[in-house]
Amino acid sequence: MKPLRGLYIRTYGCQMNVYDSDRMRDILAPLGYASVDAPELADLVVLNTCHIREKATEKVFSELGRLRKHKEASGERMRIVVAGCVAQAEGEEIMARQPAVDLVVGPQAYHRLPEMLARLSRKTGDRLEVDFDVVQKFDQLPAHRHVNGPSAFLSVQEGCDKFCTFCVVPYTRGAEHSRGTDAITAEARELVRAGAREVVLIGQNVNAWRGAAPAGSGDDTWGFGRLIRHISKIGGVDRLRYSTSHPRDMDDELIDAHAGVEALAPFLHLPVQSGSDRVLAAMNRKHTAKEYLEIIRQTRTARPDIAITSDFIVGFPGETEADFEATLQLVRDVRFSQAYAFKYSARPGTPAAGMPSQVDEVTKDRRLATLLALLRQQAFEFNSATVGKVLPVLFETRSGRDGLARGYSPYQQVVHAEIDPDMLGTMVDVEITSAGQASLQGRARLGAAHDRELDGVIE
Ligand code: SF4
Repeated sequence: MKPLRGLYIRTYGCQMNVYDSDRMRDILAPLGYASVDAPELADLVVLNTCHIREKATEKVFSELGRLRKHKEASGERMRIVVAGCVAQAEGEEIMARQPAVDLVVGPQAYHRLPEMLARLSRKTGDRLEVDFDVVQKFDQLPAHRHVNGPSAFLSVQEGCDKFCTFCVVPYTRGAEHSRGTDAITAEARELVRAGAREVVLIGQNVNAWRGAAPAGSGDDTWGFGRLIRHISKIGGVDRLRYSTSHPRDMDDELIDAHAGVEALAPFLHLPVQSGSDRVLAAMNRKHTAKEYLEIIRQTRTARPDIAITSDFIVGFPGETEADFEATLQLVRDVRFSQAYAFKYSARPGTPAAGMPSQVDEVTKDRRLATLLALLRQQAFEFNSATVGKVLPVLFETRSGRDGLARGYSPYQQVVHAEIDPDMLGTMVDVEITSAGQASLQGRARLGAAHDRELDGVIE
């Protein structure tokens, strides 16, 4: 049955966009919008865009071309909204080039969608909103949260002040902003009430979080390690993770949390991008390879079994064979459980786009293939080392191989296993029986529900 009003949101890019799309659903639900599975069934279509990769903008325009046909077929009743980072960076151009677009909202302005839609129906008001009003946004987001499974994102920090020379995020998401502890705690409780067992604290630079301490705590601000300790005490939060971090914001308080907070998953995603100090300096990462290795050493001392993942860019302007070899050496030194590697692609408006000695595509392809081969080998070794172990796995869906359930281990490994259907959405102890490069297979331990002992719980 077609709901009152159909809503179709297409989400590109990072966890922040996934979170924002969820929040747009929460904002639009009171207006009678409910999700539909295909744009042609929708009264309102939102493209929540990403500006990170090359041709990001062209992809949006080709998608808009397809949507315009659906809109014509709907007798122009369908509304089309472009949101996210391409909206922020190219809003004017989108409005000029694609008249089928009704509204354009930036990542810090989507809380205004209800009033913009109301104005649209009265044919008044702005159709382009790209203010960086993050405080207002969070203050105006509805308290109610819905969750799409047992693991839920919670945005605690937005924006970035790092200005890496290859990145558009500081220009599309604005300056770093940290939400207050009380607002974060309230939303975490809401997520647990809605069925989440794992809370993932997210931000462009989540470990740069420095936010208002709880009212009445006698403190002004807290650091991220302290926030993690606080959130881990909420009843029902069985597992806590965070992403994405910057090496420069890894401090003792956060590293200690990996030693002392039971609910904190032994998992750290810490992008390094390159192993060459010369390239790191040209990227404006403001740390050296040696400093990165020292952070990894300290974190492994705090939590020896921790899984470390990262991001890499190959072919950054000026990158020599020696620079690339330094990246391979850093990978050999760290031994990552998983990592993501990309070819450098020039982003309009970023300093690196204008740098000399751009690397040719053939060289980029060769370096990417070499790096990925090493990373895959390391992922297989990490996974193989867990065979025979019993791990608490949070099962999310039944879309695994051969109808098996699919879930995540504490090390963020994908695990497939046979479980009782009503154990979906819960943490189950699984004995790992085999490993591949990208996932594990296991056997659920009978009566294996895994509940965490809770003391000092925040009700
Ligand atoms: S830290 Fe660098 S790469 Fe990450 S979002 Fe900020 S500018 Fe971009």
